[in-house]
Amino acid sequence: MTNIHSENYLCSCLGFARHLVSGLFVVFLSCLSLQAAPVKKINVTTTVTMVTDLVKQVGGDRVEVRGLMGPGVDPHLYKASASDVVKLQQAEAIFYCGLLLEGKMQDILAKMARTKKFVYPVTESIPVKRLLEPPEFAGHYDPHVWFDVTLWSMCVDTVVKGLSEFDPSSKAHFEQRGKEYKARLEQLHDWALKTSKELPKDKRILITSHDAFNYFGKAYGFQVVALQGISTVTETSPADMVKLVEFIKKHKVKAIFVESSVPHKTIERVAADAGVKVGGELFSDATGTPGQIEDGHDLGTYEGMIKHNLNTIVKALK
Ligand SMILES: [Zn+2]
Repeated sequence: MTNIHSENYLCSCLGFARHLVSGLFVVFLSCLSLQAAPVKKINVTTTVTMVTDLVKQVGGDRVEVRGLMGPGVDPHLYKASASDVVKLQQAEAIFYCGLLLEGKMQDILAKMARTKKFVYPVTESIPVKRLLEPPEFAGHYDPHVWFDVTLWSMCVDTVVKGLSEFDPSSKAHFEQRGKEYKARLEQLHDWALKTSKELPKDKRILITSHDAFNYFGKAYGFQVVALQGISTVTETSPADMVKLVEFIKKHKVKAIFVESSVPHKTIERVAADAGVKVGGELFSDATGTPGQIEDGHDLGTYEGMIKHNLNTIVKALK
């Protein structure tokens, strides 16, 4: 009897231990699966820094973004390197500006669009009637849309759509982040309207190297004059320089500006000839370096770029 009793006791002990072990194993497994559940990031390749920032703002921690062009790089002249082509081929989604901004990358971008499903020019969500069509750009639209904050805000929609098409399970996440970013851009636009009005109307003349600021001029009430055309591919003639010097003298313009993605030499020469100062360096076709902070704003972001430009312009022309 004692033997049977102790055997029963032993059996129930063993049974309990087995339950305990299997129970612990289940807990262990669920812990493991909880830990091993980070969302897989979408591997995105972008072109210019403004688009890189836009995708990061919308995608947050669900995207891994590789931008091909860094700060100070001129997209009109940029040609894709062999390693760029590899990055484009490896990407799960590609976002670029479009409207021929990446003028010398058209072939490779068109090829990617033919062979890949998730390739998006961010400017496709801007209604055509809002685009400028300067006569000197031979039937093409002016691509520098980011200088009207309301137009750039529309490009958020393309990124939300593209990322959601690739990863439908994160659609709500991208929509929420897109909405929040657009709210910030609305504030930025209001700030830009208010800040530009610190200058009287006749002082709002913006003279730069290349014609990147037409949308800016239209949105914030500046007359915009540039040495080179819409694309930096166009060369400056001595006659253009003489004309610009005369214009500066006639309108008593206080300062003119160099651009971060265009060589400074010609504008510096015009400033010297006209007897005016260079009012500072503007970010035209690329943002500044990420992590570089100015007045609390990261110059590597689109918001930091807009703040820097307008603050520089207003300070120099006041
Ligand atoms: Zn440009």
